[in-house]
Amino acid sequence: MSERASHNGAHKAARALLDYIDTSPSPWHVVRATCQALRAGGFQPLDEADAWALEPGGAYYVVRDGSSVIAFRLGNGFLPEHGWRMIGAHTDSPGFRVKPQAAHARANLLALGVEVYGGPILASFADRDLTLAGRVMVRGGAGIPQTHLVHFPQPLVRLPNVAIHLNRSVNDEGLKFDRQEELPLVLAALGDSLPPQSQFERLLADRIECEPDQILSWGLAVADTQPGALFGPQEEFMADSQLDNLACCHAGLEALLSAPAPHGVQLLALFDHEEIGSETYQGASGNFLEAVSRRIAAALRLDAADAQRAMARSWMLSADMAHALHPNFARYYEPQHAPAVNGGPAVKINANQRYATNEAGSALFRTLCEREGVPWQTYVHRSNLPCGSTIGPMSAARLGVRTVDVGNPMWAMHSVRESAGTLDHERMIAVMRSFYAGH
Ligand code: ZN
Repeated sequence: MSERASHNGAHKAARALLDYIDTSPSPWHVVRATCQALRAGGFQPLDEADAWALEPGGAYYVVRDGSSVIAFRLGNGFLPEHGWRMIGAHTDSPGFRVKPQAAHARANLLALGVEVYGGPILASFADRDLTLAGRVMVRGGAGIPQTHLVHFPQPLVRLPNVAIHLNRSVNDEGLKFDRQEELPLVLAALGDSLPPQSQFERLLADRIECEPDQILSWGLAVADTQPGALFGPQEEFMADSQLDNLACCHAGLEALLSAPAPHGVQLLALFDHEEIGSETYQGASGNFLEAVSRRIAAALRLDAADAQRAMARSWMLSADMAHALHPNFARYYEPQHAPAVNGGPAVKINANQRYATNEAGSALFRTLCEREGVPWQTYVHRSNLPCGSTIGPMSAARLGVRTVDVGNPMWAMHSVRESAGTLDHERMIAVMRSFYAGH
C-alpha cells in the first residue's frame, strides 16, 4: 500500500471513530450504536432471560442492563483445540450525572445538581457547550416500564467560570470546584409557573413525547455537544470527548466485523462502570462475561473439562487507552516508557499487575504488531506515582484467561475534550483483527 493510501485509510478509520463517539453521548447510546453495527454485520440479538439456540458459524450479541454488551462469533472447529479470542473495553467515561431531585432555584436561575462520576478533570467542563444524554424509564403497559434513550443535541446546560477579577489566583492555583456547592449547572431562566423539578421533568417529557407524570426515573450523563475533529496541518491528530475508551470499543467492533471466520470463538466484551471500579451487575468484575462464556460452552455441548481446556488455550486483549508523552510535562512520565502519539499502540506493563500483561502477553502483542507492520510501544507508569488499572486483571482472575493490557496513546485523559493520534486508530484495528484471526 502506498504511503498516501495508508494515510487515507487512517483518516477514514479516525473519522468513523469520531462519528461513533458523536452518536454515543452516554454508555446506553454506546451500546445502542454498537448493536446497530452488529445487526448490520449479521449478528443476532440474544436475551439473557431466554433459552439460547446457538449454531456453529453463527454470530450473536447480548446486552446487560442497556450499557454493557458482549458480541461473539462461533467457529466450526472444536473449541478446546482453538480457544477463545476475546477483546475487552469499557463504555463509560468520567463526568457528571444528574441527581434524581436535581432541579432547584439558585439566584433566580434553574440549576441542576450533579454528582461526579469517576475521576473527570472537573475544570475541563467549565465554559463548554454541554448537554444531557441518557435513558429515561417511562410507565408502560401492564405495569412494565419502558426505556427511552434521550439526547438533547443542542447546548442545554453550562458551568460558567468565575471572572478572573473575582478569582485572581486561578492561574497559579488552578481552577477548583467544590463538588457540592460549585458544580450545579445552569439550565434555564427560572419560570414561575411550575416548581423547578416540574419544569425539568416537563423538558424531559417533551423530548421523549410523553406526559411528565409518565416518567418514573432516569440516568442522565452530562455530555459535550462539540463534534469530534481532526486537527493539525496533516490532520494528524484527533480530538473528541470519550476517546477513553470509545476508541478501543470502536477498534474492537471494527476488528470483529471485519475479521476472518474463526475456528474457535471471537468475542468482544464492552463493559460499563470501569471508571467507578467495575464491581457492579454489568461491570467487568461482575459475572456477565463468565455467565455468557459458560452458556456458550454449554450450547457447544462442552463438558467442564473441555470448557476448561478451551479457556486454557485462550487470550483476552484488554484494550484501554494509554498516556501519551505530553511535550510540556515530560517530568510526569517514565522516560524510557513514554509512548508517542502516532507512534503505534502501546502494551501496558506493571510489575505489581495493575496491568495484566506478562512476558507471554507482551510477546504475543509484539508478534501481532510485527505481523501487521505496525509500530508498537511500551507504557510503564512512573515509579513514584500510583498506577491506574483497568479491566484486564479482573477478567484474567475471574475467567482464568491469559490477558494482555494494551491501548493507544492519548493526551488529556479524563478531560471532556481528549486528544490522540489519527494514525494509531487504524493500526489498533489491524492488530485486533490479526488477534481475532488467530493462527
Ligand atoms: Zn479507560
